[in-house]
Amino acid sequence: MKAVKLVGSKILELVDEPEPAEPGNGEVLIQVKAVGICGSDLHMYGTGAIGTTKIESPFILGHEFMGEVLEAGEGIESGLGTPLIRGQRVAVEPAIPCYRCELCNAGHPNLCPNHSFFGVYPKDGALCEKMVVPARNCFPLPDSISDGGGTLLETLGVAIHTLDLAKLKAARSVAIIGCGPVGLLILRLAVLAGASAVYAFDRFPWRTELARKWGATHAWTVENSEGVEKLMAETNGRGVDVAIEAAWANTSIDQAMEMVAYGGRVVLVGIPPDDQAEFTHSTARRKGLTIMMVRRMKHTYPRAIHLASGPTPAVLVDDLISEYVPLEETSAAFARNYAYESEVKKIIIRAG
Ligand SMILES: [Zn+2]
Ligand SMILES: [Zn+2]
Repeated sequence: MKAVKLVGSKILELVDEPEPAEPGNGEVLIQVKAVGICGSDLHMYGTGAIGTTKIESPFILGHEFMGEVLEAGEGIESGLGTPLIRGQRVAVEPAIPCYRCELCNAGHPNLCPNHSFFGVYPKDGALCEKMVVPARNCFPLPDSISDGGGTLLETLGVAIHTLDLAKLKAARSVAIIGCGPVGLLILRLAVLAGASAVYAFDRFPWRTELARKWGATHAWTVENSEGVEKLMAETNGRGVDVAIEAAWANTSIDQAMEMVAYGGRVVLVGIPPDDQAEFTHSTARRKGLTIMMVRRMKHTYPRAIHLASGPTPAVLVDDLISEYVPLEETSAAFARNYAYESEVKKIIIRAG
């Protein structure tokens, strides 16, 4: 089968790989249909690492994906406890926790120290034609969710977990720094949760435009710390109840802390490229801030499916997709996305 391998910094190669092995107990074989390119894929593509995880040999990226069931044994059940049958469209959750450790048992599978994750070294991801995946990681997709939309349930899952950590109460205000796909989805969830005001900041106008469409009360295209002044002027110096940092820039953590009100909450979902973060201690201390770190998600696929499906979905995930490209053009698509070429939102690779 065809697959795309990351063989060095910014080098992706289309290769021939052996067909996957027969699915074992509790596993299914899927035909991969669509794979989204994520910010963390771009990190690994650009630097060959994410956090402390370094890529040491050629491997396959892709953790936001969906496909069609090709082969499932008798009585195999999806993550919803429903039977999985041949031809069923499924979104696949990429994290495989052990389900046995202290953290899994305490309800934090996202923190499982024994987990593996499709598309994070050394576990190959979805930029290929076929994969064997655990059945319980498969979530059946209703027809109202497109193939690309199915891949975005992973991103939406992270956004749901972020909003859970933000503990946003009705009629409270939120600022979101960085309107990439995760930032925009968080923004949309904050609107749905009944925020009194949602302030969105990004340096690209096509992103702030979508922020406005999705219900931001204020969406500003800004460079650096301009956003802090604008928000403080707008809130008469009070700031917001919750600030969410969904950019990659180090300075945006300081900005989030400047924007938030005394006693407020700051949630960090962006991943800094150099694995270091800095902030002004006195600001955080005087305000008595609560700082939350987002680690992926926990069992959010069913909620994501609910939000993205139906005749009038609450979250229009397809709005985030700028284009579909075939597997053969993955390398060019990554290069374009990495360079932030105009209007590149989410690129979806058509694998099969
Ligand atoms: Zn992702
Ligand atoms: Zn575990």
